Amino acid sequence: MRLAPIALSAIALGFTAAADAQSPEMSLARIECGTPQAPVEVNQRFSDTYAYPGKTLQFVYSCYLIRHGNDYMIWDTGFGPDAGATAPKVSLPENLAKLGVKPEQVKFIGISHYHGDHIGGARGFPDATLLIGKGDWDVLNAPKQPAGVTPAPLKHWLSEGGKAEPVPLDKDVFGDGSVLMLYTPGHTPGHHSLLVKLPKMGPVLLVGDAAHFHENYDSNGVPTFNHDRSQTIASLDRIKKIAGGQKATVVIQHDARDVSKLPAFPAAAE
Ligand SMILES: [Zn+2]
Repeated sequence: MRLAPIALSAIALGFTAAADAQSPEMSLARIECGTPQAPVEVNQRFSDTYAYPGKTLQFVYSCYLIRHGNDYMIWDTGFGPDAGATAPKVSLPENLAKLGVKPEQVKFIGISHYHGDHIGGARGFPDATLLIGKGDWDVLNAPKQPAGVTPAPLKHWLSEGGKAEPVPLDKDVFGDGSVLMLYTPGHTPGHHSLLVKLPKMGPVLLVGDAAHFHENYDSNGVPTFNHDRSQTIASLDRIKKIAGGQKATVVIQHDARDVSKLPAFPAAAE
């Protein structure tokens, strides 16, 4: 008599396991979202301890398309078409078309932080829900912004009724733990990184501008224009501990040496 409920619960567990096995198809593609300029001297602006005398580096501008089943998310939108020499040679919507994705299929645009090389391409996705750190959202909504912060590309979400969700701490984007926005402040007040748990490649951690290049990542270097020095170092500590624990591939979005950590566009990591 007592066997029936046990058998039933075993079946129920079996169903749960089957549902887990059928987790959504996922992929992650890197998209070039700006035009690299001549190498820059990193010793002044990018190190408040002048740690790299004579070192020059060429920065790249990266956006990412994350597929989660039938839903798509863009992480960072790069420079917009109005960014002069740094504007992308091929626009983000044109690159998405090459991947067979229409702008209206993009459910979320996740923004690491409010700088122009990360929000410039947002305008092309008015139907998407904007996910951005609450600290950055509050700065964008203030009557006056700090030097170098231009809210214009996010006007649709700031004042024209676009759907926005300010993210105070971490956010489980699709509700199944596969894509996590991680609160990593310091570069800006609400800066976030993105952890994408891919079924084949494993976890990939896109660090936003928590670090701009390998040397700063390795030595906890802090750019002089960061919002908060101690938060920057604490966030790098968090990122490194998560990366170590999860055995994640860390991708520094502006470092040209990290582009090859993901397949070359239009291929995607799975
Ligand atoms: Zn940047």
